Amino acid sequence: MLERTRAQSPFYTEDHEAFRDVMRSFVSREIEPYASQWDEAGEFPRELYAKAAGIGLLALGFPEECGGVPADPFMKIVASQELARAGAGGISASLMSHTIGSPPIARAARPEIKARVLPEVLSGRKISALAITEPGGGSDVANLRTKARRDGDHYVVSGEKTFITSGMRADYITTAVRTGGEGAGGVSLLLIEGDTPGLSRTKLKKMGWWASDTATLHFDDCRVPVENLIGEEGQGFKLIMQNFNSERMGMAAGCTAFARVCVEEAIAYARERKTFGKPISQHQVIRHKLVDMAQKVAASQAMLEMLAWRLGQGQNPVAEICMMKNQATQTMAFCASEAVQIFGGAGYMRGIKVERIYREVKVNAIGGGTEEIMKDLASRQMGF
Ligand SMILES: Cc1cc2nc3c(=O)[nH]c(=O)nc-3n(C[C@H](O)[C@H](O)[C@H](O)COP(=O)(O)OP(=O)(O)OC[C@H]3O[C@@H](n4cnc5c(N)ncnc54)[C@H](O)[C@@H]3O)c2cc1C
Repeated sequence: MLERTRAQSPFYTEDHEAFRDVMRSFVSREIEPYASQWDEAGEFPRELYAKAAGIGLLALGFPEECGGVPADPFMKIVASQELARAGAGGISASLMSHTIGSPPIARAARPEIKARVLPEVLSGRKISALAITEPGGGSDVANLRTKARRDGDHYVVSGEKTFITSGMRADYITTAVRTGGEGAGGVSLLLIEGDTPGLSRTKLKKMGWWASDTATLHFDDCRVPVENLIGEEGQGFKLIMQNFNSERMGMAAGCTAFARVCVEEAIAYARERKTFGKPISQHQVIRHKLVDMAQKVAASQAMLEMLAWRLGQGQNPVAEICMMKNQATQTMAFCASEAVQIFGGAGYMRGIKVERIYREVKVNAIGGGTEEIMKDLASRQMGF
């Protein structure tokens, strides 16, 4: 009922459906059975990257000459939404951290860096991460403090990044640094390799997303070759902003799908669970909750698909993408909360999808730009 396939939406083609089938069997075979175990362990096996590369998941949307596969925005929605079926956002976040770490490399790195780094990442041999946020703040990107001082044919980097997804395991870290003066114009992007002397990492414990390794990175006079500069000096802020649009669409697709998982799980439970002599789905209050949840998922999905269509037409609807991210995270928050409520005490117990998704709501309203920053940016884009 909540499915979006060719039968329910004009946007999906046979290619999308074929990839959806491949994704669905990959997720049900390689991720879903282990999701709880990996969450409890605080990481998933590194081999999962190569397995995901094997079905073409990691390559989606990257240039073909670097091992990528062309993909329209709907293919990316299919990928995010099928991954979300495992109900384990931490696995999706780390497995797909290259979708935030590597687009700037594809877009603006030196040709020899692209040719070396992207094939390794897209084949799952190496892990890519994005490091922007600092202990001093994440929202105010233009004010970041990590310093990269030019010294001959190297930059010398000192400073700290925090809350970095795949931070413990990343081989390539696309890092926002200050090469110039104050403000956005002094920000550049630098590719820092994981084995650079002077780089150390501290693992962080979190409310949710346990299976993803999140870290603080410490740069202590790290020497980074100048050819690792991504784009030109001072172009970093623009590259970061371009990157945010696709990150936010990906998060919106994922959140809408996690919300849908909550509805499906709650419907199945409400049909089985009996109180006062009948399934709880026969109590009107519960039925109404389920309809409210389904309604919000349908609205988010429709908004998402319309935006994906506009992106495919070459439009850049920044304000709508901000509102979409908030719409999707709020839908997820509502559905996760109602699903746990419908499950009663069972919903509070570890190891089931709705409990895990409930713990993963907040990160989506914070990461990739907070709910407040999304509203601020949308209002500026709309001219007020
Ligand atoms: C699990 C997890 C994974 C993450 N992964 C990554 C990653 O891979 N790479 C990366 O670079 N970062 C990552 N982040 C960091 C994330 O992007 C930041 O946490 C986020 O951008 C907010 O920055 P902050 O935490 O410093 O909050 P702050 O910027 O300090 O904001 C604190 C609060 O103030 C509000 N606020 C700030 N400015 C304004 C304003 N102008 N108007 C109104 N309200 C405002 C914010 O909305 C927020 O509610 C991750 C975070 C988490 C939790």
